[in-house]
Amino acid sequence: MSEHELIVDARGVSRTYRSPAGPVSAVQDVDLEVAPGELVAICGPSGCGKTTMLNLLGALDRPDEGEITVAGTRIDRLGSRAAAEWRAASIGLVFQTPGLVEALTAEENVEMAMRITGAPRRHRRVRPAEVLAALGLSEHLRHRPRQLSGGQRQRVALARALVTQPSLVLADEPTAALDSERSGQVMGLLRELVADRGVTIIVTTHDELVASQADRRVQIESGRIV
Ligand code: ADP
Ligand code: MG
Repeated sequence: MSEHELIVDARGVSRTYRSPAGPVSAVQDVDLEVAPGELVAICGPSGCGKTTMLNLLGALDRPDEGEITVAGTRIDRLGSRAAAEWRAASIGLVFQTPGLVEALTAEENVEMAMRITGAPRRHRRVRPAEVLAALGLSEHLRHRPRQLSGGQRQRVALARALVTQPSLVLADEPTAALDSERSGQVMGLLRELVADRGVTIIVTTHDELVASQADRRVQIESGRIV
């Protein structure tokens, strides 16, 4: 596979945190290549460096060493403002907890992601409902987060990540707060998105069952791929 076909190309990536107790080497010399249309699970036990790695791939953090190219952009040296603009325009992020705005409806929460990218009003009026409907939430457009179940809230968060049509979605333990049935449903949805829309998705998980539903798994132990 030639380089420009990769959506993620990370080489020799390391990240060390400075803490009062001394340096913590969270990610060490990691290489990761992901092709468009893959559903990849980064898995390993708590504390192995999954969140750190995902934050680096999403330009939420910068590596101490190494190069990271995502969707053709070198992101490892972006300043915080450029990184924020790149994130809003290029990727979708999903976290362990949905992080929805309680005062807004499901539809408004999704629309907010479009506002941030400056999407025109005519798109903002129709697309949130379309994406929510595609995720099985057409009955819940006007519901606020507290009126939704945990699984439904996580699907709203997924809709928010997808509405800007990113080529890459990064999801950090998106199923950690869900029971195994709901986890299976969320993973099923991710598989459909990859198959139907050609989105590339990287999820982190410590759950073997969740990891087994990905196309490929990348195992991390103590900050290194094994
Ligand atoms: P995971 O997501 O796999 O549980 P993390 O990436 O959150 O792992 O953490 C990897 C290692 O880095 C752990 O030892 C953790 O304690 C440490 N760590 C994470 N964030 C920080 C931070 N901000 N400061 C210091 N150490 C951190
Ligand atoms: Mg984590």
